[in-house]
Amino acid sequence: MADRETATGDLGLVQAFVNTVDLQDGPEELTDPNTLKGWLVAKGLMGGSQPVGDADLKHAIALREAIRGMIAANSGSPVYPVDIATLNHAAVASGLRMRFGTDGKPRLEPDSSGVVGAMGRLVATLYSAMEDEDWTRLKLCGSQSCRWVFFDLSKNHSSRWCTMASCGNREKARRFRSHSKARQ
Ligand SMILES: [Zn+2]
Repeated sequence: MADRETATGDLGLVQAFVNTVDLQDGPEELTDPNTLKGWLVAKGLMGGSQPVGDADLKHAIALREAIRGMIAANSGSPVYPVDIATLNHAAVASGLRMRFGTDGKPRLEPDSSGVVGAMGRLVATLYSAMEDEDWTRLKLCGSQSCRWVFFDLSKNHSSRWCTMASCGNREKARRFRSHSKARQ
């Protein structure tokens, strides 16, 4: 949706990865190993010559949902051990370690190449995003059927919906219905 706010830099990449699926209305962008590879190559997370298989797709989607879980914590949800385990597994499998780049700045880089390395780069990106002062502005839409990642640009970080026009109003209507049902 055009009016949904997007972040830039590491925050933007984390947001874009989690939002490769619109849980509410579709589409799912990562439908098969080829579309996953296309996305990762386009974002510079892996080279184009390495293969991507069905198991990689499963891992990528599990990682995506673990990252969604971490963002949900910015919206008041608890952090789940299964999400932590998924993130740590991706970090270990890719051999993430600190290196100094040619610009003299330290960063986390994976030992592995291919899709395993790309998953490590996504975890490293999440790490830098979480160090960013704007990290807590990255939130999950409060609508249970939406769960879109939006960038909360409101002054007091108080937005709860990706868009008030769609999700905010739909959620209000749903609460109103269940409330009046309870009263009957
Ligand atoms: Zn929403």
